[in-house]
Amino acid sequence: MPSHLPEILSQLNADMRSDSDWGEVAAYIPELAGIAPDQFGIAVATADGQLYSAGDAETPFSVQSVTKVFTLAVALGRSGDQLWKRVGREPSGRAFNSIVQLEAEEGRPRNPFINAGAIVVTDELLAGRAPRETLGEIVQFVRTAAEDEDIHINQRVAESENAHGHRNYALAHFLASTGNLKNAPEKTLGTYFHHCAIEMTARQLAMAGRFLIDSPQLPRMIMPPRIRRLNALMLTCGHYDGSGDFAYRVGLPAKSGVGGGILAIVPGVASVAVWSPGLNRYGNSLKGTEAMALLARQMGWSIF
Ligand code: GLN
Repeated sequence: MPSHLPEILSQLNADMRSDSDWGEVAAYIPELAGIAPDQFGIAVATADGQLYSAGDAETPFSVQSVTKVFTLAVALGRSGDQLWKRVGREPSGRAFNSIVQLEAEEGRPRNPFINAGAIVVTDELLAGRAPRETLGEIVQFVRTAAEDEDIHINQRVAESENAHGHRNYALAHFLASTGNLKNAPEKTLGTYFHHCAIEMTARQLAMAGRFLIDSPQLPRMIMPPRIRRLNALMLTCGHYDGSGDFAYRVGLPAKSGVGGGILAIVPGVASVAVWSPGLNRYGNSLKGTEAMALLARQMGWSIF
């Protein structure tokens, strides 16, 4: 790894803090509405075992939709390609919580990273298991990936979202009406809200993302063909209707969440986690996206 990475990260941290536009935090989850937007942390875990960080890399944040990568990995491990009968693999070109496309496409969500798709993936994971077991399996996968047992679900965030999750309830009930939900909406959504409420620091998330790097230097959690496919979905669908813009600006597979986290993968090289809770108009971290674009350019990191 180039020796100037620590300097690049500390300069990035300084640059991000010198600008006053931090974006808006996700106020539709009341428990997240009070978070100060002017925070920024970044961490890079490399295939050769190094960890570099700058800024608020030790502050836990709600990973929200970043969890969808981990739940998809667990669901594919369990159900294999059967899962694709219930959910597609195409970019949606719509907001993460869009309802209109789901009706037009008769209840088969476009991809596993929009809310409707992740609700179906969660529902699939509940087959033959109670919510507690399913959540235990997801959290254990994340802890193993991060080699860190100190990763937990924030119950208050999960309950806060459940109490105000009307759009997600609308999506789940519509899925149920088309036969693409096997469990009661309350049960699937309760599980979904809880895995979205997993908290990690940027350092922990960068460590957890290493299973997607695909390097012989790292312990293998899933096989390389599946790693490549998860990365393909992250590139095409990981930022919702901002996926094209992110690929254009950053050129790396990545997954965002409304908690302000982004996990990006440099295949064969590194896992990068950036966090800044203020969001852009797509619901992706404003400063996180800017920082990823600068880091990728300065490091010469791109899959293209
Ligand atoms: N839990 C959030 C929701 O369902 C996740 C959305 C996101 O991070 N984009 O709305």
